[in-house]
Amino acid sequence: MAVRTIIEIPDERLRIKCKPVTDFAAVQTLIDDLLDTMYSTDSGIGLAATQIAETLSIMVIDISDDRNQPMVFINPEIIESEGETSYQEGCLSIPEIYADVDRFLRVKVKAFDRNGEQFIVDSDEFLSIVMQHEIDHLHGKVFIDHLSTLKRNMLLKKLKKQQRLKQ
Ligand SMILES: [Zn+2]
Repeated sequence: MAVRTIIEIPDERLRIKCKPVTDFAAVQTLIDDLLDTMYSTDSGIGLAATQIAETLSIMVIDISDDRNQPMVFINPEIIESEGETSYQEGCLSIPEIYADVDRFLRVKVKAFDRNGEQFIVDSDEFLSIVMQHEIDHLHGKVFIDHLSTLKRNMLLKKLKKQQRLKQ
């Protein structure tokens, strides 16, 4: 178990499309690392393998107030979606940047847990947004990709300035 470095844009590794997990026993440490890394942040509610520069399809989510209800999704897939909603999103890989993103209101996600058991989550609440955000990561996508070019460039400029100030 270890806290790993969360990579930030414009790191090209955030653009890698993850491969499905076939050997569940082999990814137990990676799952623990994802959970440790997510909980090491002040307010992280989800983390995808891509964000720690891994290329297997795994994401973890915990939206509970006490941050003690981890959900592990392996090879997650949206199998049904409906409706539209918009929510102000942020991302550990795009620090201090927030923007409204159009999402499906409801999604049904099929995934496997850490023991290789298949499960389905059907949500039209906050979890729906978080699952869509994290599944995007596994496909090499980040939330600002959903914005207009104008808006995205504006935010990227702001981010660059922040990154410069931190150095
Ligand atoms: Zn993110």
